[in-house]
Amino acid sequence: MTASPGSKSLPPVIVQKYGGTSVATPERIRHVAQRVLDTQRSGHSVVVVVSAMSGVTDSLIKLADQVSQTPTHREMDVLLATGEQTTIALTAMAINALGGKAVSLTGAQAGIITNGSHTSAKIANLSPRQIRKHLSDGLICIVAGFQGQTLHGRITTLGRGGSDLTAIAIAAALKAKNCEICTDVDGVYTCDPRIVPTARKIDEITYEEMLEMASSGSKVMQSRSVEFAKKFNVPFEVRSSFNTNRGTIVKEETPGLENVVLRGVSVERNQAKVTIPKVPDTPGAASRIFTALAEAGVVVDVIVQNASSSGTTDISFTLNRDELEKIGHTLDSVVKEIGAAPLVRKDGIAKLSVVGIGMRSHSGVAARLFEALGQGGINIQMISTSEIKIAVIIDEDKIVEAANLAHEAFGLANA
Ligand code: ADP
Ligand code: ASP
Ligand code: MG
Repeated sequence: MTASPGSKSLPPVIVQKYGGTSVATPERIRHVAQRVLDTQRSGHSVVVVVSAMSGVTDSLIKLADQVSQTPTHREMDVLLATGEQTTIALTAMAINALGGKAVSLTGAQAGIITNGSHTSAKIANLSPRQIRKHLSDGLICIVAGFQGQTLHGRITTLGRGGSDLTAIAIAAALKAKNCEICTDVDGVYTCDPRIVPTARKIDEITYEEMLEMASSGSKVMQSRSVEFAKKFNVPFEVRSSFNTNRGTIVKEETPGLENVVLRGVSVERNQAKVTIPKVPDTPGAASRIFTALAEAGVVVDVIVQNASSSGTTDISFTLNRDELEKIGHTLDSVVKEIGAAPLVRKDGIAKLSVVGIGMRSHSGVAARLFEALGQGGINIQMISTSEIKIAVIIDEDKIVEAANLAHEAFGLANA
């Protein structure tokens, strides 16, 4: 990260990111334009990061699918970046039409340099010289989220939900006073309110908890953006685009935050499970299996190996259902060579995770979760834990019930 040197002092910078639903229609773009102007008029320099209008990125992906089954990632990025480019122009026009002064910037113009991993590029450097110049001229900068360019000038994108990352990276580079992620909910809830109607808005959450929730299905934030915020210590607020209620502050851990046993519940659907029965219980067997999967580019999630009985063991792992296809026949030869039984695939499963730094100092969290699920007649197929998370794999058709039971068991609705 390099901050631009030598620029004259600016009013404090606020970075606001508006997601797809917030800019879904011309009316909503006009509404955003008014909010942004109000923010500037309250004595701030404003940088706005916008996503593509709701559904546009998905439509572009479908369009590509109609002309090619195997589009290159390079061309996908050129295509997908157009979604955000539309929104920056419209948002800047809307602000100008209200009498403000705004200028649109693509990711490249905003100084976002990435590596060459098309469709999931990593930000390598950000030098916001143009942004600072426009801000010092009193302009509002409207930056296209989700995109950057390589040192060789190739357009890249930052992975789905990547506008969150753009906003946090810009806030870090500009040392912004505030970074606001404006979305269609009032903040981060104790569970997705679409799944648990009694879910409650969380006032404050640590980076670590937000990261665990985001990476276990709470897609309100892109997990890579939270990782970035944690690494560079960029506190941010998740709040609504449609009202001025206080949102959720995501920040580093402070004393007191761990008094709460559990912060939230996450749900991840569309999972699949693969079991390899009768794997010989000898050194190197697991390595053979998981090396073959890694070479095929398969991303594995929870892994469980049973205790050995009569010299063999069962190994199961979960993965995203879309990854199942990638396995193809990759494992068939390995399974034969090591003398295990043919693998069994199962989809229609989901993962439920409970997250909270309070777990470090409170015992009995696992017991309470398992009891709630047991009483609800929900069978746990696999369990995995980390220092601040317990995750269980269950049938997908039970996931909503399970999330509600877990939420209730920990009293999250009235915490
Ligand atoms: P945007 O388009 O603004 O980026 P997203 O759709 O990416 O918005 O994220 C907002 C959505 O995230 C909400 O509508 C909500 O359904 C979902 N969501 C999932 N988990 C949570 C959670 N724990 N708290 C709040 N929203 C959540
Ligand atoms: N438009 C991109 C997506 O739909 C990026 C974003 O919305 O953050 O994934
Ligand atoms: Mg999003």
